[in-house]
Amino acid sequence: MIQPLTCPVCGKTPDPTTGAQTSPFCSERCRKVDFFRWWDGRYAIVEDLAPGGALSELDLLDAQESLQPDDQ
Ligand SMILES: [Zn+2]
Repeated sequence: MIQPLTCPVCGKTPDPTTGAQTSPFCSERCRKVDFFRWWDGRYAIVEDLAPGGALSELDLLDAQESLQPDDQ
């Protein structure tokens, strides 16, 4: 109501109950997706950058699944 923000990843309107924690993304998942989007696109990092080890390999795979382009 105050900010007509939409999630940059999926375009949904963030849930106000969780949006404050994941802003500007609608969810933690979308925040990860965006993170891996630039991380995977701009850098060839071989080191484990996961902050605090919070992101597991499964999280990475899960996020990358969402990155598959529709127009192949
Ligand atoms: Zn989203």
